[in-house]
Amino acid sequence: MSRDQIYRLRAPASGREARAPAKPGSVYVDRETGEEMEPVGRVLPIAPTGSALTHTPENLRICRRCDQLIGLDISDCPHCGLRQPALDGGS
Ligand SMILES: [Zn+2]
Repeated sequence: MSRDQIYRLRAPASGREARAPAKPGSVYVDRETGEEMEPVGRVLPIAPTGSALTHTPENLRICRRCDQLIGLDISDCPHCGLRQPALDGGS
């Protein structure tokens, strides 16, 4: 049985993110904005217990509002929706 690799997809203009099984060369479009989304990273499979994290701790930060751990590169908290401050990426 083959399992599709799940990728994080990001729409460059809006910064919206989604997760979908993506294959190289395929194009994915945001359902709401119609924007083309680019794969930005792989999502590790989540264990049946639900205890596995999709990010390693050094890639996490804590949301100011709800204190949940979220990915460093996530623009909006997936738990409470709070907009996260931009990281100093040097770009
Ligand atoms: Zn939050």
